[in-house]
Amino acid sequence: MKGACLCGQVQVCVTAPPLLTLACHCRDCQKLCASAFSLTAMFAAESFSVTGRLLAGRLRSGQREHNFCRDCLNFVFTRIQGAESRVNLRTALFADLARFEPFVELMTEEKLPWSNVPATHSYARFPETAAELETLMAEYLDRGGV
Ligand SMILES: [Zn+2]
Ligand SMILES: [Zn+2]
Repeated sequence: MKGACLCGQVQVCVTAPPLLTLACHCRDCQKLCASAFSLTAMFAAESFSVTGRLLAGRLRSGQREHNFCRDCLNFVFTRIQGAESRVNLRTALFADLARFEPFVELMTEEKLPWSNVPATHSYARFPETAAELETLMAEYLDRGGV
């Protein structure tokens, strides 16, 4: 499956279904996406490839690398230090973004009062342990994924 930034300069390709789909209500995502929340599909790093010129930003923890198209500055994907086996793509890159309905919502403690996401699991912050994340991914896979 292929996706692209707003101007098309950055192209992404994934060769496997997502491990998990997420909505994040945190203030950073609100600002990054100029919206109420961000929409993410998490993929195994080995199933992901990207071409084009990127610009990297580092925010809040310094452990997250947000990558933007160098030309149109569209928000493309995030890599998290300590989780190099996965990559978080913005679902808006894909033409068929409706299929990435968020399975989990994060950071509801910063959620806007009128903003509602039909996620199966809600977290005031985020899963604290790798085991918790593994369980979510297993459950997402069981339900048929995408
Ligand atoms: Zn672009
Ligand atoms: Zn967020």
